[in-house]
Amino acid sequence: MRKTQGDCLFCKIASGEAKVPFVYEDEHVVAFDDISPKAAVHTLIVPKEHIENLNDEPSSELLSNVFGAVPAVAHIKGIDETGYRIIQNNGDDARQTVHHLHVHMQGGEQLPE
Ligand code: AMP
Ligand code: ZN
Repeated sequence: MRKTQGDCLFCKIASGEAKVPFVYEDEHVVAFDDISPKAAVHTLIVPKEHIENLNDEPSSELLSNVFGAVPAVAHIKGIDETGYRIIQNNGDDARQTVHHLHVHMQGGEQLPE
């Protein structure tokens, strides 16, 4: 599996080629606000390594890097105390539109049931 994919939007964002302000960055992960927010806070957490979704069997290390960043991102966004939802879409029926694994963090208000 390639580490990055040339035609992938989130590879371009994560590498800095496409300029998007980062909420958070570490060695393995970036986070940035969703361009089309579905909640008061809607931030995406994205591994720098390209992998399409969970069907590609990401390593436990990659998953740990993504989920390990969650508390820091929630704290930066000011929603760690109030709560948040994590969503991760895989494939067409889930309406995955960007084929680079990512998790959505939503919060900042009472979310729908
Ligand atoms: P998904 O449907 O799970 O693949 O989610 C992809 C998300 O990426 C959607 O919520 C889009 O609004 C978001 N998105 C697409 N392009 C950008 C962009 N340039 N910057 C930030 N978010 C984006
Ligand atoms: Zn990618």
